[in-house]
Amino acid sequence: MTENKNDRMEKIVSLCKRRGFVYPSSEIYGGFAGVYDFGPMGVELENNLKTHWWKWMVHKRQDVVGLDSSIFMSPQIWEASGHTKGFSDPMAECKECNTRIRVDKVLNDLGIFADEKMSEEEINKLFDENKSKIKCPNCKKQNFTKVRKFNVLVKSNLGDFTESNSSPSYLRGETCQGIYVNFKNVLDSQHPKLPFGIAQIGKAFRNEISARQFLFRLREFEQMEMEYFTRPKDEMGEYEKLKEYRWKAILSLGIKEENLRWKKHDNLVFYAKEAYDIEYNFPWGFDELEGIHARGNYDLTQHSSGSGKELVYQDEETNEKFIPHIVESSGGVSRLFFAILCDAYHEDEMGGETRILLKLKPSIAPIKVAVFPLLKNKPELVNKAKEIFGLLNEEIQPVTFDDNGNIGKRYRRQDEIGTPFCVTIDFETIEKDAGVTVRNRDTGEQERVPVIELVSYLKSKI
Ligand SMILES: [Zn+2]
Repeated sequence: MTENKNDRMEKIVSLCKRRGFVYPSSEIYGGFAGVYDFGPMGVELENNLKTHWWKWMVHKRQDVVGLDSSIFMSPQIWEASGHTKGFSDPMAECKECNTRIRVDKVLNDLGIFADEKMSEEEINKLFDENKSKIKCPNCKKQNFTKVRKFNVLVKSNLGDFTESNSSPSYLRGETCQGIYVNFKNVLDSQHPKLPFGIAQIGKAFRNEISARQFLFRLREFEQMEMEYFTRPKDEMGEYEKLKEYRWKAILSLGIKEENLRWKKHDNLVFYAKEAYDIEYNFPWGFDELEGIHARGNYDLTQHSSGSGKELVYQDEETNEKFIPHIVESSGGVSRLFFAILCDAYHEDEMGGETRILLKLKPSIAPIKVAVFPLLKNKPELVNKAKEIFGLLNEEIQPVTFDDNGNIGKRYRRQDEIGTPFCVTIDFETIEKDAGVTVRNRDTGEQERVPVIELVSYLKSKI
C-alpha cells in the first residue's frame, strides 16, 4: 500500500479524534492553537506512558527519587537560569498577512543549519541570503519583516497586583528548574550519595511562535525529566550509561528500532559537554523525541549565585565540597504519545475490507480486554457476558463491555483503539460449557479458552 506522508499524518489525526484519543482544544469555540485535549482513550495511553517512564526512571532504580514541584516559581529562578534573556526563538512576520514564521525551522527545511541559539545578527544574515526561497506559508508572498528573537516564556500576573503587570511571574518553561532548586532539600532530607538522580513529570509552557505538526510542538505540554548528579570526573561515564538506558527504555515500549536513531547536537550551548537526541521517524521524517545532555555544573552554579545559597555536595570521606555535574534525560509525554501512535498505526485487509488497527504493546494499550455477548437480544448470552466481564475486571484493568452493533463492528472499534484481546460469549459457552473465544487483534485469529483459565491466559499475554 503506498501513501504519502501527509496522508499518514491525516489518518492518524483523524483516528485520534474519531476514537477519543485527542481533541483540538476549545473546538466548539473554533479552537485554540498549540494546545490539545486528551480524550478517554488518550488519557489511558498517556497515563500508561507516564507510568512506564516512572517505573524505568524511579522505581526500578535505587539511585533516583521523584519530585513534583509547582508550575509557578519565583521569577528570580528564570533570571538565574538565563530564560528571561535567552529563551527565545527567531521570528519574522509576513508584512502582507501578519503570519509569523519561525525562521530557524524554515531554514532547516531548506537544508540550512540554523537554530535558536544563534544571535539575531547571525540569523538575519542567513535569512537575507535565502529570502528568495522563503514564501509565506499562508499568502505565499515574500515580504517579511527582519528577524527578531522572541522570548517564549509565558507570563502571568500571579502574585502581581500592579495594574501595569510590571512584575510578572512565569508559567514554567521547563520542569528541570524545579529539580535544580530543590537539590538542597532532597540532599538534606533523603541524604543520597553521589551519583543520584531526581525525576519529575509535569506540565511546561512555551509561547511557541508556530505551534505545528499536531502533538509535536505544543504551547502547553508535559515533560518527563531526570537530572542525574555526578562527581565531575564521572560525568561523561554516567552520560554514556544514561544514553544506553534510555534507548533500552524506549525500545521496551514496543517502538520499532529502525524508526529510532541518534543525532548529535552540532551547536552546543557554551556550558554543555555533549548532547544527543533520540530521534523518531515521524510522518515528515526523523525529528527529536528526547534529549540526553551532559550539562556540566552550569545549572547548580547559576542557582548558587542567583540565590546566594551553597548548592554543593560534601564528600563524606574527603570532606571536600563541590558543585555536582549533571547529566539529563528530557522527553515530552505528547511527543512520545505521537511517536507511539505513528509506530502502531497499521492498515491491512481482513474479510475483504481494509482494516485500521493500532498494534500497541498490550501493556500500554488503553483497554486491555473487550468482552462481548455474541448477540445483544439474548438475555442468557448477555448475562453470562456480564458475569465474565465482572470476573475479568477484578483482575485486569481496564476491561470494557460492548454489545453495541454487530460483532464485526465491535471488533473494528477495538482494533482501532488497539485493544489486544476481545472475548466473545456465544451459544457454545452457555450450552456446551465450551469456554469463550479470545480473538487476537493482530492476527484476527480466535482461540477457545475455558472460563476457568481465562484470567491466567490473558494475564500471561498482557
Ligand atoms: Zn503572508
